Amino acid sequence: MNRFDYVKPASIAEAIAAASQPGATYLAAGTNLLDLMKGNVVRPERLVDISRLPELSRIERLANGDVRIGALVRNSDLAYDAVFAKDFPAIAEALLSGASAQLRNAATVGGNLLQRTRCAYFYDTASACNKRTPGSGCDARQGENSQHAVLGWSEACIATNPSDFCVPLAAFDAVVEIEGKGGRREIALEALHLLPSTTPDKETVLEPGEIIVAVRLPAAARAFAHHARYLKVRERTSYAFAVVSAAAGLTIENGTIKEARLALGGVAAKPWRPHAAEALLVGHTANADNYQRAAEAALAEAKPSGNNAHKIPLAKNLIVRALHLAALGTPDRMPALPASPFSSPTGALHDA
Ligand code: SF4
Repeated sequence: MNRFDYVKPASIAEAIAAASQPGATYLAAGTNLLDLMKGNVVRPERLVDISRLPELSRIERLANGDVRIGALVRNSDLAYDAVFAKDFPAIAEALLSGASAQLRNAATVGGNLLQRTRCAYFYDTASACNKRTPGSGCDARQGENSQHAVLGWSEACIATNPSDFCVPLAAFDAVVEIEGKGGRREIALEALHLLPSTTPDKETVLEPGEIIVAVRLPAAARAFAHHARYLKVRERTSYAFAVVSAAAGLTIENGTIKEARLALGGVAAKPWRPHAAEALLVGHTANADNYQRAAEAALAEAKPSGNNAHKIPLAKNLIVRALHLAALGTPDRMPALPASPFSSPTGALHDA
């Protein structure tokens, strides 16, 4: 373990001042950061512990109907907030699909947004990794890369973003509130994460010292509550990151899709929102042919970055399945531990 300073600020302003120093990083629950430190993958010189900052642990219903979620709200607390889960069921479903019960009880909303990739070579300090050590190369390119990106990847890095939560947040136009030395700003969640290009070590648009203070969901996102799902394909039923995941939301009138929202996880370095695919659905009948057309459009730019061509048809099938289940209607009660997205609640397989 490397030596580091530990700072516990009493206010957001103090936290920003402390974290603006070179080598500083924020610590909330530490469910990802502490593992990285123990493995010598990251070596911060200063930890700025924000876990006890006031005002960041609230879920607020704003006067305009938006919902504002403080950055320190625990993943479990948000998923089990009955009003939130009713209004944003696909987001609750995504939260409950992530990690394990113990981790969800500790992990925070802000930390979920900033968790690092699960590329094994990033965690192995004996491997070349441009994200960990810029310019060193990328051992994943010629290595075990069946779980790596098929969209938005570059020659420098083919890693994926591991978050479930971010996928429906991107689909439903969530906004991230950020505070830094220059004051407060907000950006669409869809614009928070960066594609790797030639600088995979730069993962978000956050500047040094900037802190995520809240995530906001627009009131309009509630319109999808009756037709929304988050589906996740993973290598085991629990405590595994997505091979591919999909969030879908629809508004439907007399069998015609009025609005559509889609996003994919496990396919790129950021949650992937295929706007063109959404547009193809609007004004058309909610049926399998149109879901398939949208799925083809969503993956039109996809290409394997290694031994992962299977992700492309898998992602298409998952989109079709997510749209189909969303159109059927959001279940009153989400399964506590979702099984295969291609099985019925009874476990019987049936067609999308
Ligand atoms: Fe590192 Fe990205 Fe290559 Fe993985 S894919 S080894 S994170 S550069």
